[in-house]
Amino acid sequence: MIWSHCRLNKTITDNYDLKAWFYKRENAEDIIKQVDNPDIIGFSNFVWNSQLNHKLAKEIKEKYPKCKVVFGGLGNPNKNRLNNFFEEHDYIDIVVNGEGELTFENILLELLEDKPNYKNVEGISTKDFVTMDRQRIKDLDSMPSPYLDGLFDKILLDNPNDTFEAALESVRGCPYQCTFCEIGDKYFQKIEKQSNEKVFAELDWISKNKILFFYNADSNYGLFPQHLDQVKYMTKLKRETGYPDMMMVDWAKSRADKVIELARILTDNKLLKGITIALQTLNPDVLKAVKRKNVDNNKLKEFVDLYKDKNLKSYIELILGLPEETLQSFKDGIYEILDMEFTDYVDIHPMTALPNTPFFDPEYIEKYGIRLVETAPAFFHHENADDLLSESEMMVVGSDSMPLDDYVEASLFKWYISFAEYLGVTSFMAMLLYRIYDIKRSDFYDKLYEYTKNNKDTFLGREYVETKEALYLILDKKQCWGRQVKDKTGEIYWDFQEATNIELINNEDSFYKEIKDFVLEEYSDVDEHMLDDIISFQRSKVSTPEKQYPHKEKFNFNLNDVLKGAKVKNGGYEYTFEHKNYDNDIHAWSKEVIWWGRKNNGYEVKIVDL
Ligand code: SF4
Repeated sequence: MIWSHCRLNKTITDNYDLKAWFYKRENAEDIIKQVDNPDIIGFSNFVWNSQLNHKLAKEIKEKYPKCKVVFGGLGNPNKNRLNNFFEEHDYIDIVVNGEGELTFENILLELLEDKPNYKNVEGISTKDFVTMDRQRIKDLDSMPSPYLDGLFDKILLDNPNDTFEAALESVRGCPYQCTFCEIGDKYFQKIEKQSNEKVFAELDWISKNKILFFYNADSNYGLFPQHLDQVKYMTKLKRETGYPDMMMVDWAKSRADKVIELARILTDNKLLKGITIALQTLNPDVLKAVKRKNVDNNKLKEFVDLYKDKNLKSYIELILGLPEETLQSFKDGIYEILDMEFTDYVDIHPMTALPNTPFFDPEYIEKYGIRLVETAPAFFHHENADDLLSESEMMVVGSDSMPLDDYVEASLFKWYISFAEYLGVTSFMAMLLYRIYDIKRSDFYDKLYEYTKNNKDTFLGREYVETKEALYLILDKKQCWGRQVKDKTGEIYWDFQEATNIELINNEDSFYKEIKDFVLEEYSDVDEHMLDDIISFQRSKVSTPEKQYPHKEKFNFNLNDVLKGAKVKNGGYEYTFEHKNYDNDIHAWSKEVIWWGRKNNGYEVKIVDL
């Protein structure tokens, strides 16, 4: 976008050539070889590329001392947090603060002067001075689009074998101030929008170029009327051309009423798999500490029921590591969600401290006793461990309310509940035990967790130990986030619960036997005959790589109806189970069911009438 804008200026195109443009992660040596005595080089930084960018910038400056090195992006400290940044990184000449299009244009023009004076450029920091803030761009329509001016056409032409995703931001800014988010800064509070005309033209490009996956990067999708226009336009494109095929958005946080119509249209047109409920926490003290308001005055149950009524898949997002959260309040939040009979996915993210948020502010850190450690970026599903270990991310691993040991314990609980409930491994039996014996799901999971910790010789107990060991290595930056399951899926790093789910293959018999023992030991009311039926039903309701579908199975009780709220009856029932067959292809199953399908209950085997 920066070059799209700068090349509209004739002085710039008369004096500069954009020689190369590095948008794919390559190793530093290969990039350096392609850089030949530049006058200026710009870097865009975030957690996934900062260390590589610093390495490149340092080497380029050493090789070409006259080259102006400019850093932009949200990965650099803003003007109030510079401290010794320029002393420690003396190869950087200029840091651009905020939007970069106009600022970089001004830098290029200044560089053409006999005696450049960068004090004339608004919105920058250097080792000697910081200039006044540049105002946010008001008229976004006046800015060119790399989709529409041919720049991205060239990328597609030059890389015919690559698959591309497209991102588009139709609204810049966010009215909220969440302390864990860079966009919560005052600078981004004003909302600026692009016209539908421009957005539709970009969507046309995406469709015409057969881009399958599209990400709308607006901070509050559904908050503004034009989002409905865009949804209608996109679905029309999909119906006519098949592209884009799938999209992702960040939904408006507190307006179920506004987003539901959009989600309905997108889901009906198979453009969307689910709708996010971004809660981050259910603890009011935490919400206050992070300056966040939750959905509709905490009418979460209403929200969840509304989505269920409309047959829309949803998933809840939580963050582990926020100030004022305790181990117990974190678990209680999850128990509350369980007991409102929410059965879709809950995505629990470890908390990353971004450099320009209050999480790097000494006063905020002191106020809440926030504890930070440097780890590799918290990414999963990759195979490039060494590369990721060379980058870093500051993670919040506790606070006064959650000491490190409690943070580790909360992380293990996150692993456990995500595996057992949110990947479906015991979710159907937990619901059936609730319906038949009135055992609250929170109680079942609370007791099963204690059983796991106290029985290290069980499948779950062994996985608990392994996950804990991996976590300590990660917090010491000796390993990437997640775990590999080498004998089954090679080098891929899975999120912990996914790794345990893959380990479960070939261990199912002993695992469900242990679960049976646990239930009989803990709940004396449960009839063994009924429990056997429930466990068989549970096993049939989750996909495994070796099962063949469709398959029929007989049960004594009407468990499928009980799941939907009917009274239990004993009479002999046969169900037909249907799911995709994987013919023991663990790789394909893990990717499609566990990874891609995780937010959409992809593990669930349907019961069908044949
Ligand atoms: S987390 Fe979302 S709602 Fe909060 S400030 Fe960031 S973009 Fe806005």
